Amino acid sequence: MKKMITVFKGDGIGPEITDCVLEILESAGAGLDYEIYNVGEAEWKRNGALIPDEAYASFERNRVLLKSPITTPIGHGFRSLNVTLRNKYDLYANIRPAKSNIAVKTPFSDVDMVIFRENTEDLYVGVEEKIDEDTVHAKKIITRKASTRIIRDAFEYAKNHGRKKVTCVHKANILKMSDGLFLDIFEQIAKEYPEIEHNDKIIDNTCMQMVMNPNQFDVIVTPNLYGDLLSDLASGLIGGLGLLPSSNLGTDYAMFEAVHGSAPDIAGKHIANPTALLWSACMMLEYLGQKECAGKIRRAVDEVLADGTCLTPDLHGTATTEEYRDAIIRKIREMN
Ligand code: NAD
Repeated sequence: MKKMITVFKGDGIGPEITDCVLEILESAGAGLDYEIYNVGEAEWKRNGALIPDEAYASFERNRVLLKSPITTPIGHGFRSLNVTLRNKYDLYANIRPAKSNIAVKTPFSDVDMVIFRENTEDLYVGVEEKIDEDTVHAKKIITRKASTRIIRDAFEYAKNHGRKKVTCVHKANILKMSDGLFLDIFEQIAKEYPEIEHNDKIIDNTCMQMVMNPNQFDVIVTPNLYGDLLSDLASGLIGGLGLLPSSNLGTDYAMFEAVHGSAPDIAGKHIANPTALLWSACMMLEYLGQKECAGKIRRAVDEVLADGTCLTPDLHGTATTEEYRDAIIRKIREMN
């Protein structure tokens, strides 16, 4: 029986990359059915709701969501819908694998790290207070509960995926109480996994080391804001945002999305790279136990990237999104 999932099409390049990914999933014979919704800024302008009630209800029924990027106004307007979804469904573990691909030339060929970003607290709670005309305070929240579960997940992942080392990234030298708590919990939990090497690094040093010597990083666990920044940095190391997928996992719900945003600068130009959303869909298939189908799609993407003749402009090619999609579908058909 096919698994029903919810799909949010999002803003900017969202609809075009979603259509493309759904066609590839179809060609690979994914055991999925879809409930598809328009959400985000465009939907709000059309119908006055950023996420329609029926879209929320669908996710609550299906518990698995493939989500495209959503535009968030900067400095004003509504709260990020991404943050809203992560909090509403307690999607506390944001897992972002960044791996070099032989086909994509970057200064480093040996990047293979997985970032575990805490997804529900830190500065992202969005609690800001205007003290006077010239002063604003923002709250950074770190709790034992949220820190414990993300750190434990990072070690469990390392144990179950043959990873050797977990690095905690923080700023506990300055934020002695908040990041200090995160680091203390990390040190405690690390003792339960003696077979896995562990260390910690300050965020600024981590940024420098990531661009000098990225292959020293294996699994990284870190609070929300540093995880956000580090994963964009990691995407730069492997060829750009078009190649970085993610899963957002909670106890009851799972959401899969590209790390990148709605890319309004290239929306509608047919040049968006759908790989990050496609690999997010592969993570979803693996989560649902459809590993063979995910493997087939991953192999097809690898072959198209390695062939190098049909790449989107972000990877220095001239192919449209649709030409790239068709090249992947051809590879999948050869395997069927
Ligand atoms: P962005 O990630 O949308 O784009 C950054 C740069 O990367 C742009 O030049 C863009 O063209 C390029 N890029 C991104 N994805 C690409 C792809 N798949 N193929 C080719 N090029 C790609 O970041 P931004 O411009 O800072 O943000 C745009 C909007 O997206 C903002 O409103 C932001 O809040 C939102 N956003 C949403 C999410 C999400 O929904 N998860 C994540 C990040 C940003």
